Amino acid sequence: MDKQITNLIGEEVQRQREGIELIPSENYVSREVLQAMGSFLTNKYSEGYVKKRYYGGNRVIDEIEALAIARVKKLFSTSYHVNIQPYSGSPANTAVYFALLHFGDKIMGMKLDHGGHITHGLPVSFSGKAYKVVSYGVNKKTEVIDYEDVRALAKKEKPKLIICGATAYSRIIDFKKFAQIAQEVGAILMADISHIAGLVATGLHPSPFGYADVVTTTTHKTLRGPRGAVIFCKSKYKDAIDRAVFPGLQGGPHNHITAAKAVCFAEASKPSFKTYCRQIISNCKCLSSELERYGRRVISGGTDNHLLLVDVRSYGLNGSKAQKILDNVNISVNKNTIPLDTLAPHIASGIRIGTPAVTSRGMKEKDMLKIADFIERALSGKRQEILKKEVATFAKQFKLPGAL
Ligand SMILES: *Cc1c(COP(=O)(O)O)cnc(C)c1O
Repeated sequence: MDKQITNLIGEEVQRQREGIELIPSENYVSREVLQAMGSFLTNKYSEGYVKKRYYGGNRVIDEIEALAIARVKKLFSTSYHVNIQPYSGSPANTAVYFALLHFGDKIMGMKLDHGGHITHGLPVSFSGKAYKVVSYGVNKKTEVIDYEDVRALAKKEKPKLIICGATAYSRIIDFKKFAQIAQEVGAILMADISHIAGLVATGLHPSPFGYADVVTTTTHKTLRGPRGAVIFCKSKYKDAIDRAVFPGLQGGPHNHITAAKAVCFAEASKPSFKTYCRQIISNCKCLSSELERYGRRVISGGTDNHLLLVDVRSYGLNGSKAQKILDNVNISVNKNTIPLDTLAPHIASGIRIGTPAVTSRGMKEKDMLKIADFIERALSGKRQEILKKEVATFAKQFKLPGAL
């Protein structure tokens, strides 16, 4: 045993046990997913694809990778081609661009301060440096995507690739409308469902399959699997995508993670996972309306999914300060820009709150009322020492998934 690391892991487990985790991209994996991640599979090199490997000794790995692919197709009821090897969401998106575009081509994604992801064309990211970027946002009044605005921008700019999907957007995304727009301007459509994958898999959010040419997702957010990603594509893009992942961008696949993905896909196919996802949404709606009841402004007036954005200026705070205050009482959220934010992303006017992790711990609507009360008291400047103890006592009542 490595004493120093073991102690630090112990401290982190304690932090997770005593805290309320409201970062919408985080979750707790099952014991079974943890076991697959911590397995001997990490020892093996398997560059290439099933039955087309560069090294010997891959009989078992081939079976594991084929099983993961079959399970994820079943989970999303799709016949799209699957590449299961991307190390994480950002490399997956990069691989799609590398496969389908030339450097300098035009891409169109959602603005970061309106909910898009860094890899959807932010200037500091590879996506923003290698490609020309145009971005759509939400309507200023409704704070919801206006598909006529998206269409107008697409017609004017004629991007080669349109990206839909977001990292901080609390409403339903209409993939069918995006597909119509893409078709009208001759663009390829990519749907990045990293955040909502669990909701899509269980039919609680419309699916992009059949509409998007390419679908990417992480496996560690609502899907509750290991850190990693998957790319799905229509068969005409199959070879380009596979070549872009390996040897284009990556070397050997992380076989222990592939196995953990397979475990996660089986778990997410169970009826209990759908019950879980329903509860995520109910909890989120409950938390949102409770914060509104306290007079706080929730962006777009509510939520259809697993997250909500709160404008924290009414507390006399910015997002960065709010995040720090909540952190001090063991509540994890992240600062987030809100539409038309006048503050820089590292300060921001809002916080992003999500319910996937707390729902995995078994929390229900009545617990959301408690959490709203904690947030309200913390951000209104109530005594932090007392609150921190209350939060820990509250959180410790709920088992940490994956823990023995
Ligand atoms: C989280 C996320 C990613 C990136 O995933 P990483 O695994 O952190 O690289 C990409 N796209 C969207 C929409 C995301 O939410």
